[in-house]
Amino acid sequence: MEFEPVIGLEIHAQLLTDAKIFCGCSTKFGAAPNTHTCPVCLGMPGVLPVLNRKVVELMIRMALATNCRINPECNFARKNYFYPDLPKGYQISQYAHPPAEHGWVEVEMDGGKKRIGITRIHMEEDAGKLMHDERNPVSLVDLNRTGVPLIEIVSEPDIQSAEEAAAYLRRLHETLVYLDICDGNMEEGSFRCDANVSLRPKGTEDFGTRAELKNMNSFRNVQRALEYEIKRQQYVLEGGGKVVQETRLWDDTAGATQSMRGKEEAHDYRYFPDPDLVPVVIDDAWIEEIRKGLPELPLEKRERFVRDYRISAYDAGVITASRALADYY
Ligand code: ADP
Ligand code: ZN
Ligand code: MG
Repeated sequence: MEFEPVIGLEIHAQLLTDAKIFCGCSTKFGAAPNTHTCPVCLGMPGVLPVLNRKVVELMIRMALATNCRINPECNFARKNYFYPDLPKGYQISQYAHPPAEHGWVEVEMDGGKKRIGITRIHMEEDAGKLMHDERNPVSLVDLNRTGVPLIEIVSEPDIQSAEEAAAYLRRLHETLVYLDICDGNMEEGSFRCDANVSLRPKGTEDFGTRAELKNMNSFRNVQRALEYEIKRQQYVLEGGGKVVQETRLWDDTAGATQSMRGKEEAHDYRYFPDPDLVPVVIDDAWIEEIRKGLPELPLEKRERFVRDYRISAYDAGVITASRALADYY
């Protein structure tokens, strides 16, 4: 039997604001541990979060650039789970009422252009960072990153190969960087990707059981992890086995994915609307104001360079790979 992969990506992008999403603490990377903290982002009892307007604006920029429908009203929800890097015991995220939905982007593949759907974009706060000591049985926690604003961009399961996943990832990455809303640094974790992949018999409609892959910190690793995982699932299925729904970590040195834990279902998080935050209302005037400020996006720029300057598509791609180089040209 021949199988075909079904892939959907979840991307977390750290937004370029000066302050965190619900308090005034700095978001600057690399400060001494636990110096960019206050009672709000430390999750002290009795404190109240206040939404940073800039976060909403940057989310809208990305939503417009990816052809999403922006909902007039959205709200924040608590995603409950216990982890040492999450001092409140829940993460403030968005769930039932996301701000942006039903978008798409185009990627260029050998066979031409392909449209990949975007299910939703929502805002949330980042968690802190744990550092595990190799020699001592202790873990250290740095809460500077706690409360740094993120947007999560969830794709439809429209992606059909590891190569296509990498192309989609590059498209979103360059869009975020062009829009000046994320520095795109994968090493520092400003741009992170979880990849969901399953196999199904070629030509069938229903989805198979998926694995969620984490811990890939470069485009190349996302592609390699998916290639490995597709082969692994194929091997399991061909042997008459079943793929289990789980989270797997990419091990770069081993060149393999390894089981980390069974995958939580949404209901395990006991989402509910955060009573500390009022609904966010986004009016058309604000959307239009933001739309006017959008720069020319890389794909449009590429096509314009080919048309107006009569250069090859390849050259246009090289020149527009960075906005600074394109502007100089
Ligand atoms: P979560 O991972 O939090 O449970 P979702 O259910 O929204 O979130 O799914 C996350 C991603 O997984 C989406 O990008 C979606 O397209 C993709 N996905 C869902 N089901 C499958 C599947 N059977 N195979 C591959 N990808 C899938
Ligand atoms: Zn703070
Ligand atoms: Mg997921």
